[in-house]
Order: sequence, then C-alpha cells, then structure tokens
Amino acid sequence: MSTPAHTEGRPTQAGSHVTDRLVEANGRYAAKFTDPGMDARPVLKVAVVACMDARLDLHAALGLDLGDCHTIRNAGGVVTDDVIRSLTISQRALETRGVVLIHHTNCGLESLTEEFRQDLEAEVGQRPTWAVESFRDVEQDVRQSMQRVRTSPFLLHTDDVRGFVFDVKTGALTEIDPA
Ligand SMILES: [Zn+2]
Repeated sequence: MSTPAHTEGRPTQAGSHVTDRLVEANGRYAAKFTDPGMDARPVLKVAVVACMDARLDLHAALGLDLGDCHTIRNAGGVVTDDVIRSLTISQRALETRGVVLIHHTNCGLESLTEEFRQDLEAEVGQRPTWAVESFRDVEQDVRQSMQRVRTSPFLLHTDDVRGFVFDVKTGALTEIDPA
C-alpha cells in the first residue's frame, strides 16, 4: 500500500498511521451519524467495569446498544480508586444502579507481578504510586473487585453487583459466586 498523500511530511511511525486510520474512519462514521437525542444517563442504569483487553468487545458480548451503559475499563478491570471515582459519578450524577464486573481468561495481568513496580523504579528512578494489581487466580480477583465495590462508602447502590469471567476463546461469560 502506498502512503496516502495527506500523511506526507508527518511522522511515519506505525502509531501515527493507525491514528490517521481512526480519524478517517470517524469521518465515515460522522457522515452517517444522526443525533440519537439521548441525554447522558445510561438507559439500562448499569455500569460495566471490564479489562481493557482488545479481545473483549463489551457491547457485542453483552448485547448492548449505544446509550445503554457506562463502560469503565482499565488493565485487568481492577476496581481502583479511579474506578470508584467513575462509579460514584455514574451512580450519584447519572443514576446508574447496577454494577457488572468483567475479567477474562488469559489476562495479561496474570503474567505480571508487583516486581513490575520495582523494575520500573530501577529504570526510571521513581516508584509509581499505583499498584500493578497483578493476580494469579482470576476468580478470586473478581471476588476481590466485587468486595471493593460493595464496601465503598461513596456508592449509593451496592446491592446489585455481579462479577464474571469472559472466556476469550468461547466468548462465554461465567458468573463468579461472591462467597
Ligand atoms: Zn485483561
């Protein structure tokens, strides 16, 4: 494939090309887009917290449409303080009630340890303030995440919190018993 004319004179790293591709795709998206007339409150009153894994297409996997839910994603789908921050805003300002937590098989965090932080410190001379939140047992990690949501003092609704593991090979969810 030849380089498109409009990228001449720009950085030629893969990342830049990818971003150009995304912007072009947005042009096509916006050309067909019609204002759905929604406000910001999720239709299904639910927030989904999930791993950022590229193999997890949340909307497709859960039958979600535009406007249905909040999606909060990070490495591991870990319930960090920042996830609690988003859930707090989701519930208190935008009226969601349910929380769905989705971790998955073959997660990158299973192959990391907290040594990652020490290695970072050795390399850059500064220890990150955050925990890596690596884990060995994905089901136990889902339970811990459910517990963090349920015990947060900031949330209005902690009665409907359910946790799942998504299988990246079958596309199926397995619910995790919180006990
Ligand atoms: Zn993951």
